[in-house]
Amino acid sequence: MKFVTSVVLSLFSLYALASTEYAPRFDFRLYKKEAVNTGPTILIIGGIQGDEPGSFNAAALLATEYTISRGNLWVVPNLNFESIIKRSRGVYGDLNRKFSRLDRNDPEYELIQKIKAIIQDKQIDMVLNLHDGSGFYRKKYIDKLHSPQRWGQSIIIDQEKIKTRHYGGLMALAKQIRETVNTAINDEGAHYHIRNTHTREGNVEMEKTLTYFSIQNQKPAFGLEVSKEYPTHERVYYHLLLVESFMRKLGIKFKRSFALQKAAVRDRIDNHVNLSINDGKIYLDVAHARRRLTYVPLKKSAPVNLDSGSPLMAIINDHKGYRVRYGNRHVTYLQPQYFDYDSSLKKVSIEVDGQTKIIALGSIVKIRNNLLVDPLPGYRANIIGFKKPGLKNEVGVLIRRSDISSRFSVDRSARLFRLEFYKDNKYCGMLLLSFNNKKSAQLSRLSANIGASVP
Ligand SMILES: [Zn+2]
Repeated sequence: MKFVTSVVLSLFSLYALASTEYAPRFDFRLYKKEAVNTGPTILIIGGIQGDEPGSFNAAALLATEYTISRGNLWVVPNLNFESIIKRSRGVYGDLNRKFSRLDRNDPEYELIQKIKAIIQDKQIDMVLNLHDGSGFYRKKYIDKLHSPQRWGQSIIIDQEKIKTRHYGGLMALAKQIRETVNTAINDEGAHYHIRNTHTREGNVEMEKTLTYFSIQNQKPAFGLEVSKEYPTHERVYYHLLLVESFMRKLGIKFKRSFALQKAAVRDRIDNHVNLSINDGKIYLDVAHARRRLTYVPLKKSAPVNLDSGSPLMAIINDHKGYRVRYGNRHVTYLQPQYFDYDSSLKKVSIEVDGQTKIIALGSIVKIRNNLLVDPLPGYRANIIGFKKPGLKNEVGVLIRRSDISSRFSVDRSARLFRLEFYKDNKYCGMLLLSFNNKKSAQLSRLSANIGASVP
């Protein structure tokens, strides 16, 4: 195995403050995924418009689920993060029309300067800007859905070629990529077409875009459009097919943590949404969470720190609790109960189905039948939803799923429960108990570690 460095740069800190005086900041992130084996660098931009989930979900997977063993991949998965979280195309107007002239007072002025600097970085050899477009682009009008006015399933260039040392033949390269990708797509309706917007010949709208800014700075750039006619996971699938073929073309070597199949992509997006707060003190799988979680032990008079797992997740202070957003989706609402925190307990010993396991707080425990927390002097264990008259501490008690009331589960199908630990009246941390069912076992097999063997 070759070494891979993966650096996450958050341009500002990514947390929501407990106080209502401050609005949460929604700054984009830059992931630099760099291999020791040197090679070209592609910059991927996702989420330039907030209502294009194919784009930002694909970029988020590239940022978090890919490892690079030759060359480099820089990924900005959530460029227009505030609009993504607020499910708007652009809270302050269309971000992809702000790359030529922009008023200094524009609320996105700073953001634009930052992304421009990244594009201009001398390490960048190519820029791919991911979009979800309407219908299907066709050079000649076929019907309302397939026409020159549509954008879906197309590779977009601003002009035939640009003067640059590498990859300046935009049209030639787009054609090669199109051939490769289309042979991998059985459904002919989903095949890619190339759209040349001839921007410098007076295309006023396209002059304001990120790709045109890129090529004016001698950076080969392509707009990649999937069709909004497809559900999100299929859009992501098509985006990844396209991005991967660009990576192969440039000799960037990679692996991903899932198979490039529609079902596996869907599983990745829908079933792996973890929420970690305050250094793992709260750790929840919220992929199928209830709309509201109550008595969540948050820290007294302190900001709620979202740990930087997914670039698409945000916590927003709202009345007396917190809304949890994941891309365009509402995940859950946290109704807090405030505690002082205690950090003396890092791990606990638990009998899981009769087997002793030492488990770090802030992780998931998979259980088939039962569990029992081993003796833990000085601490109190509390499974939310478990009640036995007269029992205040659940250490040393054999507990089965049927002993816990379903309505206290984290998830809607009542498999996930919170096991919390306290010292005196201070909160120490939690484990997430996951009671097994067949469906979850099937799905986790889809996410087996599968390398990049597809063309
Ligand atoms: Zn777009």
